[in-house]
Amino acid sequence: MTTCPFCGWPDSDVVAVLSRHRTPEGATVWTRCACGSLQTRVVGAAGTEVVVRGRPHEAEARPVTDTPGDVPCDK
Ligand SMILES: [Zn+2]
Repeated sequence: MTTCPFCGWPDSDVVAVLSRHRTPEGATVWTRCACGSLQTRVVGAAGTEVVVRGRPHEAEARPVTDTPGDVPCDK
């Protein structure tokens, strides 16, 4: 069994199914993990396989360098 590399959630436990598309082989399913990572799963005769995995909260991601810190002002 595979797990999410970002939060360790088991791939077999689907948190949210976003969409499902039929294909000649079976189906393609878009899911979202507990951490917000988007996954594309291909469902075939052999079972379900996660083929694409996005980063958690990719849409809300901000550059870490823009985070205000405790840098003292010299004025
Ligand atoms: Zn996750």
